[in-house]
Amino acid sequence: MAVPKRKTSKARRDQRRASSYRLNKVTIQECPNCHEPKLPHRVCKACGYYDGKEIIKVED
Ligand SMILES: [Zn+2]
Repeated sequence: MAVPKRKTSKARRDQRRASSYRLNKVTIQECPNCHEPKLPHRVCKACGYYDGKEIIKVED
């Protein structure tokens, strides 16, 4: 069985995780229809659009 020769230092381990293991990813995107901030992969709360189609009716 292949075994690492050296222990990975805390600095090197944390450096590796810092790039891809981000816990607090940016979860706000702009609606392409009304340009309001919205969550990705969700129907826009402001205009009710998703994927270029009106999914839910939104009252003004
Ligand atoms: Zn919208």
